[in-house]
Amino acid sequence: GKVIFNGELVERENVKVDIEDRGYQFGDGIYEVIRVYNGELFTKKEHVQRLYESGEKIGIKIPYEKDVLCKKLEELVQENHLETGIIYLQISRGVSPRQHGYPTPEVEPTFVAYTKPMDRPEDLMKSGAKGLLVEDIRWLRCDIKSLNLLGNIMAKQKAAESGCFEAIQHRGETVTEGSSSNVFIVKDGILKTHPAVNLILNGITRQVILRICKHNQIPVKEESFTVDDIKTADEIFISSTTSEIMPIIQLDGSVIGNGEPGEITKKLQKLFVEEIQKECKN
Ligand code: PMP
Repeated sequence: GKVIFNGELVERENVKVDIEDRGYQFGDGIYEVIRVYNGELFTKKEHVQRLYESGEKIGIKIPYEKDVLCKKLEELVQENHLETGIIYLQISRGVSPRQHGYPTPEVEPTFVAYTKPMDRPEDLMKSGAKGLLVEDIRWLRCDIKSLNLLGNIMAKQKAAESGCFEAIQHRGETVTEGSSSNVFIVKDGILKTHPAVNLILNGITRQVILRICKHNQIPVKEESFTVDDIKTADEIFISSTTSEIMPIIQLDGSVIGNGEPGEITKKLQKLFVEEIQKECKN
């Protein structure tokens, strides 16, 4: 298939990444994953906005205007005839002789985007998945969608080794987020999720869920909660671009609620599908 490399639509085989690309050497860059449903980008504006914000936070200037970038991504999806899947895009600070400091003068960032077919995880969303609590060992700027994912991938690996779908991270007593998702709990009919501060990534799916709650009078608080709170929650779910709203029915081997996806979780899943249908008609 085709990919975008520094603004050009080219065959993937023809792209070569320099060994001194700072994304490759330092993880010095940012990325986004955008869902495509029915050949249309879901929450495109929000993802592009977050990309620009991540760029600003680490001093990488995105080399395209927002609307030009959107057009390029839509072109890529059409070119590859993608129906249901994702776009992965990343921007590194660029290529420069290895040294930690930002290159002076500035170099051109390296931009890459490609598509991948990916079904919605419908079976797992119906049955629910298992979670594992792990200590959050990451840095203190988790609000940046940075290419540096060692903490995240080590957490995910721990979960996988325990037969779990996701690692649910906590800093001391406070639950932060999943290794590649946000975490919500329900207790006595009220939803809670960690506030959007430096300790978590402000997920786009998280933002859509908060909007859905507001429009449907579902009580939600952007308030942190403890390890004890999550262990005794009525419902748990995680949210992400690829996994949407994924019920967590077991945590560290203990059953949550009655061991099935909860009522509020299921209601939100249904409302989320309506959002997809509204935005990605075709
Ligand atoms: N937190 C982390 C650490 C993530 O990597 C992700 C995305 N994969 C999320 C939360 C969820 O964000 P989004 O809903 O925008 O995919």
